[in-house]
Amino acid sequence: MTTASSVIITIDGPAGTGKSSVSHQLAKRLGLQCLDTGAMYRCVTLMSIRESIDPLDGDALVAALEQHSIEFDWDVTPPQVLLDGLGVEDEIRGPEVAQRVSIVATVGVVREAMVTAQRRIAAAHRGIISEGRDQGSVVFPDADVRFFLIADASIRARRRVSQLQAQGKHADLDTIEAEIRSRDEIDSGRAIGPLVCPDGAVEIDTTELTLHQVVDRLEHEVRHRVDAAVLASC
Ligand code: C5P
Repeated sequence: MTTASSVIITIDGPAGTGKSSVSHQLAKRLGLQCLDTGAMYRCVTLMSIRESIDPLDGDALVAALEQHSIEFDWDVTPPQVLLDGLGVEDEIRGPEVAQRVSIVATVGVVREAMVTAQRRIAAAHRGIISEGRDQGSVVFPDADVRFFLIADASIRARRRVSQLQAQGKHADLDTIEAEIRSRDEIDSGRAIGPLVCPDGAVEIDTTELTLHQVVDRLEHEVRHRVDAAVLASC
């Protein structure tokens, strides 16, 4: 794997384990950028909804990907995903995309396109924290440090409900828990790039930990494994 990045850290795990919040905080502490690969799959899904493309039709999805751009605005913190240059945060986090995204993410040609794009993004940055489902297992198996976060599904659902409520959105706990469990099942069972704890990854159960405690643990591991001078150069 060729990459210009000095430091690559991966954080994988099922929905609601706190990957995004942890990535943002860790990136701030270490002076790195963070890449939300789930946002990329969500953008492909939004495209498929807007264009009424069957979520399993790989040829049509790839053809649509060639006509649209998925990029990030790196000037904001955390970086925001842009579909054709426009922010789509609200739409990609909505229930319609959430229900379909894991189906779109089973499509091999979509995953190939995302993996290529993710490696290209990493190569354009000095240091990156990449979070998703397959970052340490498939996309960056040689990353400097690879993490795998886990937590009880009921806790993950409660966290997601609190997040949504904080944004003033209605959230039903049972519906959210069912959606999380269904995504976990599809993500873990798919043939290509399934959700797995990468060999040699640091696994952390966040069920009983606060966000601060999780970030402390990750920061400790990274500082222990990555040369301070290399980190400072990012
Ligand atoms: O991380 P987030 O919950 O936003 O991801 C949404 C979905 O995108 C996941 O449930 C999974 O189906 C898919 N995904 C993936 N591989 C990644 C990141 C996300 O398959 N690297």
